[in-house]
Amino acid sequence: SESGSNCYRVVLIGEHGVGKSSLANIFAGGHDSIDSDCEVLGEDTYERTLMVDGESATIILIDMWDNKCEGEWIRDHCMQVGDAYLIVYSITDRASFEKASELRIQLRRARQKEDIPIILVGNKSDLVRCREVSVAEGRACAVVFDCKFIETSAAVQHNVKELFEGIVRQVRLRRDSK
Ligand code: GDP
Ligand code: MG
Repeated sequence: SESGSNCYRVVLIGEHGVGKSSLANIFAGGHDSIDSDCEVLGEDTYERTLMVDGESATIILIDMWDNKCEGEWIRDHCMQVGDAYLIVYSITDRASFEKASELRIQLRRARQKEDIPIILVGNKSDLVRCREVSVAEGRACAVVFDCKFIETSAAVQHNVKELFEGIVRQVRLRRDSK
């Protein structure tokens, strides 16, 4: 059946402060969707339909990684529900880059044998003078992660559209190779 096959749950994960919610807000407020209204499904969940390579795709974007609650159940939940992941770090914060590696390992453990589409996202690329992680390091890390890499700036909205289009393409590549 084709029903629902163009709808993907994309989960934002990464250290607090790297810009996950800023990226989600751009997604929620962008003007590139077919029905230019974004549906807010909950406090931290956004749905939007994009046209990518002539085919529509609906992304349900989940930004609840930093939600405060008892225990770790939200994070466990996040690790389980994604069809695809955006692992975000800040290029101005090496610790957040190191955290990204940890998250990659956790994700691999949580979803063993699944070939999950991931993009490693180096955000805050506008802050050139505060850079602590080079483009080459980000790219090399993505090779180890076996995933795509992009640098974005939520502040100046650089590469954000490309990021969401990119994750749709990654999901499709796997779908089409099945
Ligand atoms: P989250 O904790 O990962 O959700 O991060 P937020 O989206 O709340 O962003 C944390 C802080 O970084 C906020 O003050 C944002 O305004 C700022 N920020 C987020 N993205 C960027 C960016 O691309 N460039 C710059 N200069 N600041 C950013
Ligand atoms: Mg946030």
